Formats: sequence, C-alpha cells, structure tokens
Amino acid sequence: MASSGSMHLVCDACGRVLPADRSPGRCSCGGLPELVFALPESIDPAVYDRRRGGLDPLDRSGVWRYREFLPPLPPDQIVTRPEGNTNLYSAAALSTWTGCPHLLLKHEGENPTGSFKDRGMTVATSHARAVGARVVACASTGNTSASVAAYAAMAGLPAVVFLPEGKISAAKLGQAIAYGARIVQVRGDFDSAMRLVQEASQELGLYLLNSINPFRLAGQKTIVIELLHQLCWEPPDWIVLPGGNLGNTAAFGTAIVELEAAGLIRRRPRLAVIQAEGASPFYRAYRNGFASFSPEPAETVASAIRIGNPVSYDRARRSILETDGVVEIVTDDEILEAKARVDRSGIGCEPASAASVAGVRKLVRSGVIMPGQRVVALLTGHLLKDPDTVMAYHLGPEAEHRPMTNRPVTIEPTVAALRGVLSDVA
Ligand SMILES: *Cc1c(COP(=O)(O)O)cnc(C)c1O
Ligand SMILES: [Zn+2]
Repeated sequence: MASSGSMHLVCDACGRVLPADRSPGRCSCGGLPELVFALPESIDPAVYDRRRGGLDPLDRSGVWRYREFLPPLPPDQIVTRPEGNTNLYSAAALSTWTGCPHLLLKHEGENPTGSFKDRGMTVATSHARAVGARVVACASTGNTSASVAAYAAMAGLPAVVFLPEGKISAAKLGQAIAYGARIVQVRGDFDSAMRLVQEASQELGLYLLNSINPFRLAGQKTIVIELLHQLCWEPPDWIVLPGGNLGNTAAFGTAIVELEAAGLIRRRPRLAVIQAEGASPFYRAYRNGFASFSPEPAETVASAIRIGNPVSYDRARRSILETDGVVEIVTDDEILEAKARVDRSGIGCEPASAASVAGVRKLVRSGVIMPGQRVVALLTGHLLKDPDTVMAYHLGPEAEHRPMTNRPVTIEPTVAALRGVLSDVA
C-alpha cells in the first residue's frame, strides 16, 4: 500500500499481526484488529492553534488537524468535508435541571451528516480508498449508514447499507437513500444485520465500515482531542457520553491515555458512560465488576443506542478502568425529558444524545458527580435526525402528562381567535 508512514494491525486477543492493506476484519481467533502506529512523544500545542486558523483542508478538519494521533494515510487519498469543529454550549436551564453549574455540551450533531459518525468515516473511507477497495458496506442503526453513504459518494465508491427492517428513523434512511447508497433491509434486529454484513464481507469482498474497523475508532478519538484543545488542554473532571456499540467509549479512553503520554494533558478526565435501561449490557457488566458479560435483547426509544451486543465491549471496559470511569443507566422517560429540555434550550439533539444529559442529572443526584465539578456532556446527533420522536413526545397520547410539551393549535383566521390563544404572551 502507498502510505506516508508505517502502521500495522494486531489482534487485540491473540496478538497476531493482521494485514492492513484491505478491509480490517476479525482475527480468526475472534479478536478485533487494533491499529498500531508511531505516536508523538511530545508535541507543541501551538501547532494546533496555527492549524485551526489555516486554509489547508486537512488543517480545517477537526479530525485531520490532529493527524499526529491518526494512522498515516496518503494525503491525496483523504476524503474530508471537513468534519468536526463542533461547538461547546452552556445553558443555564440545563445547569439548573442537572444540578451541575459547570456543564458544557459538545455538539457532535454539527458534523456534516449530523452525527459524530463522520469523524470515523473520514479516516476509514480514506483508508478504503488508499487500499483500492471497490465497494464499502456497513450495518447500521441509522447514523452510520448516512455517514457511509455520504463519504462513499464523495470518494466515488459504491456503498451497501444493511438496515434492521422498520427500525430506523425516516430522516436517517432518507439520507442514505439520497446520498445514493444501495439499501438492504434485513429482517430482525441490528445484531442480525451486523452478523450478516460480517459474513458477507468475507465472501463478497466488501470493505467493512462498521465499528469493528479500527480506522473509525481512530477518527473518533478526535472528539476528545478537539474538546481538550477547546479547553486549552485543561481537562474537565468528567466526560459524559451515551454508550451503544461502545466505539466512542473505546476511542475516548485511548485518546485520553495518548494525550497524557504526549504531554498535552497532565490529568485524566473520568468517563461516565450512560446506557438506556432497555439496552444496558455494559452497565450490567460494570455492576458485576466486569466479571462477566452477556448480550441481551435491546429496546429503547433512543434507536442509536438500541444495541444488545456491543462490538467494542472489551475496549470500552479498558477505557473505564483506565479513566476510573463509571457506567450508569437512564430510563426512556428520563431520556425523553432530557431531550425535551436540550431542545427547549435552543441547542437540540436526537434522543440517544440526551442520555448523556439525563445521566449527568442522575450522577449529580447520587453524589458521583460533585456540584462544583466541570463536566462535558456529549451530544452525539442532531435534532433533525429523529422528528418522529419529537412529534410523539409533544403530540402523542401521553403528551399532556409530560413536562415541556408544546402543542400546535389551529384557529379561525381572525385576530379575536389569535388573541385567545396568545393571551399568555401578547
Ligand atoms: C452511534 C451513535 C451512538 C452510539 O455510539 P457508540 O460509539 O456506538 O456507543 C450514540 N448516539 C448517536 C446519535 C449515534 O449515532
Ligand atoms: Zn487473534
């Protein structure tokens, strides 16, 4: 492979070296491929300040700006929008509701296709292109497929997307269709779609863009790297994120350890991973001290974390141990209320994202997060990703029992009628 540096893949279970010149699949022992390349021993943070103001497309990307922490790929093969550069927000109402005065929200829904998935996809699609892949593929709860479809289109590669039938929001499906991916709906849940794509990739020669792919995890490290850059390399006490397939959890732990080794941070922020109660195999494993892990059927309103058998379980476990992290669960009602409050603050997010904010509130109440601590909660996806959930919350049968509902009204076209419905504000 043409490359601007050296890297290789090793199996995280048996240590065997795996080929890096094709779609990185599971080792024959069942282990996952891990990327190994030279990391910086020390780095002058001023280099990132300079690049942030630059015009080079790689410098402007909130992923490739931090390329010292990414696998070396030939620059002329890189497919970038550019992604990242997502903002940090605070909202007094959310600080009050969570009981956390120093709460910031990092909005990964501001990525090109509306979720953090683009950060991994720019790296993995660039690798696919660099090794001459002919077709890329993934199984997805939605956001991955939207991202795969967009990056494949930009790279000029055909894409095949495997979806669990009928379990994906129309907005995400619409993105994948519009960007031109071939859509294959699979009967069953996400985990069966995932099994099929893994089997098929071997036999049909598809380049797999699932989160088994370590190039995606490498890209997702930049959420934490960019965050710490925004905080002038002064770590918060906590980084709180939703956990589904646990790719981010895995990537965040790696990023924190690597940033410390490179001298960019002196202290590790703690990770708090929040799962939906109905899809919480990682939480259960955490509660038994990671003594055992068992997959479970998954059900939650937060479709992006409706995953019962997370691919990155082992790597995520390591992240919790290395950052003195915690895992917590929240109910669907807590997720929906948190989402309604994030939306109402003008920031907005998709349901899975709100799990992190609901989690902050729960962890403050249980005394795990202290009120004076600095907390960054991750919002993983954009409000427009899931309009059906918005409508169901505000207009559905249970709407009147919920806080924050906002129901449209219909009137006759007269000022008198208007006066009647605006009496509380005008
Ligand atoms: C993919 C996704 C998640 C889950 O992230 P993992 O890294 O798989 O745990 C959460 N929220 C949104 C919006 C997502 O698209
Ligand atoms: Zn192996």
